[in-house]
Amino acid sequence: MKRRSEIPACDLGLLNVTLDKKDDKTMKTKRTSALPLFHTHVIGSLPRPKVVLDLIARREEMPAADYQRAMDPMVLFAIRLQELAGLDVISDGEWRRTQYIQEFLHRIGGYERCRPFTHQGEQKFTSVVVRRMKATEPVFTKDAQFLAANTDRVTKFALPSPFLIVTRYWHEDFSRNAYPTRQHFMEHLVEILSAEAQALVGAGIDIVQLDDPALTYFCDRKLMEKGETHDERLRQDWDPERQIPEAMNAINHIADGLKAEVHLHCCHSVYKRMSDVTGDYKPLMPYLADTKIDRVNLEFAYTGTGVPSDLSLLPDHLGIGMGVVDVRGERLQEIKEIEKLAAAGAAILSPERIALNPDCGFAPDSGEPPTIDEAYEKLSRLTAAAKNLRDRFLDTDEEGPRMKRGHG
Ligand SMILES: [Zn+2]
Repeated sequence: MKRRSEIPACDLGLLNVTLDKKDDKTMKTKRTSALPLFHTHVIGSLPRPKVVLDLIARREEMPAADYQRAMDPMVLFAIRLQELAGLDVISDGEWRRTQYIQEFLHRIGGYERCRPFTHQGEQKFTSVVVRRMKATEPVFTKDAQFLAANTDRVTKFALPSPFLIVTRYWHEDFSRNAYPTRQHFMEHLVEILSAEAQALVGAGIDIVQLDDPALTYFCDRKLMEKGETHDERLRQDWDPERQIPEAMNAINHIADGLKAEVHLHCCHSVYKRMSDVTGDYKPLMPYLADTKIDRVNLEFAYTGTGVPSDLSLLPDHLGIGMGVVDVRGERLQEIKEIEKLAAAGAAILSPERIALNPDCGFAPDSGEPPTIDEAYEKLSRLTAAAKNLRDRFLDTDEEGPRMKRGHG
């Protein structure tokens, strides 16, 4: 039998848009099954303080051991901050990354920042794949081991999804020599990210999350109908009926057989405290029916993103991570406001299916707002709201906690 790496790119069957059926068994683990009602989790990144940004900037000029000696205590601080905020599920704050996708591309190799584009009126250059990626071994293993070894909480580690990377980093003018088509690129990414996800589980990570804000483009009606956008990279020939199943199939290949809970996060991208795209999640929901994931983490707090009625379309096998804390605005929501939004979800879905999170990660790019103090305050309010909701929805007596009647 041929080893996976010896199979020519187009033999893996990803071009077949019929979705694989999900098995009955959930990928939840003992530890994630024990999480409480309305448990709280982060999406991934925490704002990087200036000292962390400075350290990352000096990475190439420092001996590796010195860099690690300086960075490890910073990451420990990010871990302790989340524990003190009261979160049930934590990440490493992604403080070892320059940015949630770029770091992966940097470590894998094959990308160059050479494609000019305009974004919100600014002229920029973006990376594109220009050479075939060389993945000899997973690139996040050590980062994941450090997180798992330094907390008792349930851990989460996020990876960029193949569709997101294909959508943003393949361009016909620059990438054809590396990968003749988007599909060839997608198939190699699936292979690399599958190995990466397996390595995370081997390192002791409980939840693997695939980040795919590009799937949310299909929720933006103006972008889909008229191509209206302030980001030149989004002017593409969109074909939801072909592309969404391809994206989901790629995710299914990565999730298949993984001994961890698997999440998918679809947000509206954050840039300078604003969303890049707009629209509720209804167009995406039907495509989640056959996904081999456990939970989908969506945004509900920021205007123009999800609305609670979207949840009536959530397929039965999925839990929801409700974004109930706005990561964009400077205003701090009252704890009661956060509770109210989560309760609107619980009016549609059983609270057992609901976890609570900020809309998105807190660090869209280096140096962007908010500050770490703002994030800590928002996370603390999130966990306070979750505690109040548990009190409201659970009866606790000598036999242990039970759902109150009337909420089911
Ligand atoms: Zn996000």
